[in-house]
Amino acid sequence: MTGSLTVAGLGPGDEALVTPEVSAALAAATDILGYGPYVARVAPREGLTLHPSDNRMEVQRASEALRLASEGREVVVVSSGDPGVFGMAAAVFEALERAPQWQTLPIRVLPGVTAMLAAAARAGAPLGHDFCAVNLSDNLKPWPLIEKRLRLAAEADFAIAMYNPRSASRPEGFGRALAALKEAGCGERLVTFARAVSAPEERIETVRLNDATPDMADMRTLVIVGNSQSRRVGRWVYAPRQAR
Ligand code: SAH
Repeated sequence: MTGSLTVAGLGPGDEALVTPEVSAALAAATDILGYGPYVARVAPREGLTLHPSDNRMEVQRASEALRLASEGREVVVVSSGDPGVFGMAAAVFEALERAPQWQTLPIRVLPGVTAMLAAAARAGAPLGHDFCAVNLSDNLKPWPLIEKRLRLAAEADFAIAMYNPRSASRPEGFGRALAALKEAGCGERLVTFARAVSAPEERIETVRLNDATPDMADMRTLVIVGNSQSRRVGRWVYAPRQAR
């Protein structure tokens, strides 16, 4: 008996932002694996086993999901937002590379609304021109590489969506990121702090980068640094479609 493995994105938080495709996969699942707070977003029901796990056990969790699928279970691995954006999809393929016996399993990746798109929509259209996304966590890459990418993104005049800006275990990084961007000449750019987008405690705030301070971000914040042309119109922020 062959089961299946689905990697699904739950969106930024609000039920209304879960795609129908993901809802259908969750309804058909026998097992849900993922980081505890994300698994907690799936309602328990008979016949469904929830497997919450710790945040840093991604590849182990992915291997467990593949094993369950090979035993005939209908397994869904959940990420917040989109599973391909700093989420579980890459961890599943990493686990698959290590375990060729599972490469014939039916595997699907279902997209979700990633935090930067939900945040950008709240702010207006700060990603309306060319942009990039950078994960500020140095758990899986060295900090100098993060600073290099920020410097080059600034030079290329991309708007920059920053995920994982700051956590209790990494209190310093975000301040250094802001300093690197100032040094790269971005002091006058608009920066939007979008916290807990689509949750009741949502807060959106935009300031000039020169006025931004590290304490304005936490682990539930997505930060968007505008490009050099980004501007305000009323309460909105947008990046004009034309570049000079
Ligand atoms: N796969 C997820 C990202 C996981 S990394 C996605 O596609 O959205 C976790 C980071 O995402 C957080 O530190 C934060 O920067 C951002 N994030 C996730 N949900 C968010 C929300 N509702 N509001 C603001 N930022 C969010």
